[in-house]
Amino acid sequence: MAAPTEAAGTAPPIDTTGTSSSATAHKPPRYLRQYELIDRVKAYDPSADEALLNRAYVYAMRMHGSQLRASGDPYFAHPIEVAGILTEYRMDTATICTALLHDVIEDTNATRADIAAMFGEEIADLVEGVTKLSKLELAAEHARQAENLRRFILAISRDVRVLIVKLADRLHNMRTLHFLKPEKRERIARETLDIYARLARTIGMHRITSELEELAFENLNPVARDAVVRRLATLRASQGPAVAMVSGEVTEALSEAAVSARVVGREKTPYSIWRKLQRKSVGFSQLSDIYAFRVIVESEDDCYRALGVIHRVWSMVPERFKDYISTPKRNNYRSLHTTVVGPRGLRIELQIRTEEMDRVAEQGVAAHWRYKDKSYGFDAEAAELSGGRDPLLSLGTLAQVLNNGGDPDEAVEHAKLEMFLDHTFVFTPKGQLINLPKGAMPLDFAYAVHTDIGDTTVGVKINGELKPLRTPLQNGDVVEVIRGPKRVTPPDWRSLTITGRARSAIRRHIRANEREEFVRLGRAGIEHAFVRAGKNLAEVSLRPAMDRFAAATEEDLYEAAGRARIPPEQVLEALYPGLKLEEKAAAGARRRIEDGKSARLFVRGGGLTPGVSLHFASCCSPVPGDRIVGIVQPDEGLAVHVIDCPRLAEYEDREELWRDLHWTPEAETATISRARLTATIRNAPGVLGQACTLIGEAGGNIVNLRMHHRQADFFDADFDIDVKDAKHLTHIAAALRACPSVEEVERGGG
Ligand code: MN
Repeated sequence: MAAPTEAAGTAPPIDTTGTSSSATAHKPPRYLRQYELIDRVKAYDPSADEALLNRAYVYAMRMHGSQLRASGDPYFAHPIEVAGILTEYRMDTATICTALLHDVIEDTNATRADIAAMFGEEIADLVEGVTKLSKLELAAEHARQAENLRRFILAISRDVRVLIVKLADRLHNMRTLHFLKPEKRERIARETLDIYARLARTIGMHRITSELEELAFENLNPVARDAVVRRLATLRASQGPAVAMVSGEVTEALSEAAVSARVVGREKTPYSIWRKLQRKSVGFSQLSDIYAFRVIVESEDDCYRALGVIHRVWSMVPERFKDYISTPKRNNYRSLHTTVVGPRGLRIELQIRTEEMDRVAEQGVAAHWRYKDKSYGFDAEAAELSGGRDPLLSLGTLAQVLNNGGDPDEAVEHAKLEMFLDHTFVFTPKGQLINLPKGAMPLDFAYAVHTDIGDTTVGVKINGELKPLRTPLQNGDVVEVIRGPKRVTPPDWRSLTITGRARSAIRRHIRANEREEFVRLGRAGIEHAFVRAGKNLAEVSLRPAMDRFAAATEEDLYEAAGRARIPPEQVLEALYPGLKLEEKAAAGARRRIEDGKSARLFVRGGGLTPGVSLHFASCCSPVPGDRIVGIVQPDEGLAVHVIDCPRLAEYEDREELWRDLHWTPEAETATISRARLTATIRNAPGVLGQACTLIGEAGGNIVNLRMHHRQADFFDADFDIDVKDAKHLTHIAAALRACPSVEEVERGGG
C-alpha cells in the first residue's frame, strides 16, 4: 500500500543533471567508472564478456580524448552515461558496448572496419546503425522529413537495439540540454517530442517516453509546465491524503475476496495532464485527474477477479472500461483499465495488471532481455507470451503512412505544442485551465471565462484568499470570481484589465449607458464657458448652436460637447457672434479654476461612480479632500487629476479641456480611498518593516506593496494604502519622511 509521499514521488525523475552525470562545470565531472559499469552489467548478466566491455570503455575514452561537451565535461562521459542508462534496462553486452562506441564513427577518426576488427561484426553493425540515425535530420523541413523518417525506420527495423541505444543517447542529451544555446535547445526538444518520444512509445518503453516528454515539455513550454506543476502541488496537498485511503480500501476489498494485490497510487506526469487539458476542455481538480491507481496481482486470472470485485463494490463509470489483456495494444501493452466511483464518492482510475505486464508496460520491448539457459539476450519466447507482437511492425505502418500519405504533419501532429511563452496559465475552481497573457488581472480572467461573469465581478479570491482586483495573476493560481447581483464597472477598469477581450466587453457595456453621462459632462462644460463670459445659459435658446452643429436636440449638443467633439467656446460664439473671451488670455491652472468663476461638477468619492465619463488619473490617484480638476479626453470623458499633478503641464495651453471639479460633500466625509505612496528607502535590515509599522501606526492600511529599482544601497517601494482622505495621506507621508531610512516620499508613482 502506498503512503501519499511515496505515491507523489512516482513521476519520472526530472533531474536534468542526470542521475549520475556531472552536474555543472564547477564540480569535478562525475560519470560511471569502468568498474561501476561492469558491476552493474554483471549484476543482471553473470555471463557478460567483461574483457569486451573493458575494451569498449577504454577505446571510447581514448578516441574521444580531450573533446569536451557543452557542459564542459569530457566528451566520453556522454557515451558512458548512455551505457549506464541502458544497464537500467538490463541490456545485453553488445548493446552496452554499442552505447559506449555510438559516437566514435561520427565524432572521431574511427571507422566501421576498426570497430569490426576490435569488437566483431554484431557491434560494428549496431554502431553503424546508430551513426546513420544520428546523421538524419529528423526535424528538417516537411518534404525531407518524411524521407528521413522512412530511412530512419528502415535502419531501426533491422535491429531494435539500434533504436534502444538511440533513445538512451537522446535521453542523456535531453538531461543535459540546459548547457546548449536556447535556439538549439528548442529544435532538439521539439524533435524529441515529435519523433523520439513517439518512437519510444511505439516500442512500449513508457518510462523513457515519459521522461523524454517531460524534458521536452520543460524546454518547449516552461510556462505551461510551471502552471501545471504548481497546480499539481496544491492538488497533491489537498488530495494526497486520499491516495492512501483509496489504496487501503481497494486492497481491503480485494483481500476480503481473497485476491492478493499490491495497490499503488501513481501521480500523472505534468505533460500527460497538459495534453489532456489541451485535448478536451476538461477540469483539473479531482483525484482522478492527477492519480491513477495500479492494482498489481499475481496472475492474468486474478486481473479479471480483481476487476469483478472492484465493479461489485463500487459502480463503474460507463465507457471507461478497456480490456487490453485480451486485446493488447500494438506495443504489447496489457492491462485492464476501469474508472469507478470509489471510496467516499471519489472518482478513481484503475489499471489492473500482473507484475510481468507492469514490467512490459514500463520497459516495452526492452523487458524481454534476460538471462536464460546460461546466456543472456532477447527472450523471444517471453516476448511471445506477453503480447506476442513485434512492435517494430507498427513502425512499418508508420513508414507507410509517411510514404503514401505524404503528410508528415499527420505523423508528428499529435504531440505538437503551442508556444505560449508570454502566457499565464490559471485555473477556475473547477480546474478548467484558462490561458491569459502575462500580467493579466482578475477581471481579464472573469471576462475570459464568460462576459456575464466579467460584467458582474465585484471581487476575487485567489487561491482561496480575498485579493484586490488589481492583483496580477500568477501561473497556477486558482481564481474564483465573486459576483454581484447586477452589472458593475469599476471606475478604474482601465488599470484593472490588460486583455482586449475584457476591455472591449467593458467598453460595449459602458457605451450602453454613457450617453447620459456625456450629456451631463457637456452641459457642465458649456455652463463653464458661459459663466466665464458673464452669460447665463438658462436665459438663452441654444437653437442657433444646435443648427450650426447639426444637433437635433439640446441633449445631442451637450453630448457632442461632452465627448469634446464641439468646444464649448464655439457654442458660446454661435450664440454671441464676435464675443471676446477675455479669459482666453488667462493662464495657469489655479486661475483657470478659481472658485466661483466656474460651474462645478461634483464627483463622488471612494471610486468615481459611475465611472464612465469620469476616471481617476493613475499618475496622481486623487483622494477626497484633494483639490481636483478634470481634463477632457476625446470620447473618454474626464480624467481627474490633483491640481498640482505634474502631468497637468501637458494641458497648460489647452484651456478648453479643463473642467473644475469638486468632491460631493459625502465624498469628503466618505470612508476609505486608495492612494499610492512611492518611497525611496535605504537598504538595511528591517527598514521595510519599520516603514510598514509607521504606516500602520498612522492608521493606513497597506493593501499592496511592490518593490522596484532595487539596488545595493537603495530601493523604491510603492505602498498602496487605504486612507480616509487627503489629509490622512499627507499625515502618513509625513510620518514616513520622518523615518531616518526613508530618503524620499512621493504621491502616485507606478
Ligand atoms: Mn551521442
